Amino acid sequence: MRISEALSAWYRENRRELPWRATKDPYKIWISEVMLQQTTISVVIPYFERFTSAFPKVEDLAGAAEEKVLSLWSGLGYYSRARNLHRAAKEIVALGKFPATFADLMKLPGIGSYIAAAIASIAFGEEAAAVDGNVVRVITRLFDLDSEVTSKDTVARIKSHAGELISGQPPSEHNQAMMELGATVCTPKNPCCLICPVAKFCRSRANGTIELRPVKKKKKKQEPWLWEMHVIQKSGRIALVKGDNGTPWLKNTWTLPGKAAPWKNAEPPECDFKHSITHHKIYVKLKRLAVVPNLIREKRIKWAAISEIRDLGTSSIVEKALKHL
Ligand code: SF4
Repeated sequence: MRISEALSAWYRENRRELPWRATKDPYKIWISEVMLQQTTISVVIPYFERFTSAFPKVEDLAGAAEEKVLSLWSGLGYYSRARNLHRAAKEIVALGKFPATFADLMKLPGIGSYIAAAIASIAFGEEAAAVDGNVVRVITRLFDLDSEVTSKDTVARIKSHAGELISGQPPSEHNQAMMELGATVCTPKNPCCLICPVAKFCRSRANGTIELRPVKKKKKKQEPWLWEMHVIQKSGRIALVKGDNGTPWLKNTWTLPGKAAPWKNAEPPECDFKHSITHHKIYVKLKRLAVVPNLIREKRIKWAAISEIRDLGTSSIVEKALKHL
């Protein structure tokens, strides 16, 4: 039995029942895959159910107000993904039908090769290998790839192995089996090799290199920043700004105003709480101001009640700040 056949047989027996696995609807598969890019299945399930109940069809998402889309995304993070979903939904409606091939899906905003392959294979049966972080881990271990995982050469080798594995297999089942194996058996730490359906083919298991695969790039050092967030209240409402928040981050999202700068001292600054954005370690200090600083143009401010703020799709850094108030 070949690797892929052993894997598919295992998947048919062991697959988890998930809401998006009960459908071939490309729209719902797309939503689930975008949500799953940033968090775990257990977090995604309620978000997926709320989102697809509010927008059951791509036309509903296309016709929705952006703030409504962001409010249903609120808490998942990476708001640019929600904005891209919304933009792509409008393009799909303008096209008149859901693109049905990997090549056409790749033309939509926010859809990269992984999501295009997942939709093309699961919804339309195209033989397109979907390669996400889980699949990369499985392949680098199965074939014991010993070069740095994001290098051009390794990416090409992974792609080629992924293409060989899916060849001649039912594409939807094969891709989902690879993802499932990576998520439940071939996990980053302590993989369950004893119950792995492809253990007898696994070269890193034979070579004793499992813990070394995939070969990761050295982590970028965390850069400390101090963000002084300004809390300005008027008639029970709080000032939020978009674009004018005095920092290099979250320019398209409503945040508290303020100013930020890299922190150069060896000792960390005093702060109210810490937050990370990419490789930035941000020390946040909250400062109450009685008036809006001159630098902020009044017309760029939204005065929001605390109960409304979550619905604006704000970042989790704003939620943390509000908890401190
Ligand atoms: Fe992963 Fe272990 Fe299976 Fe190899 S044998 S694919 S390391 S779970």
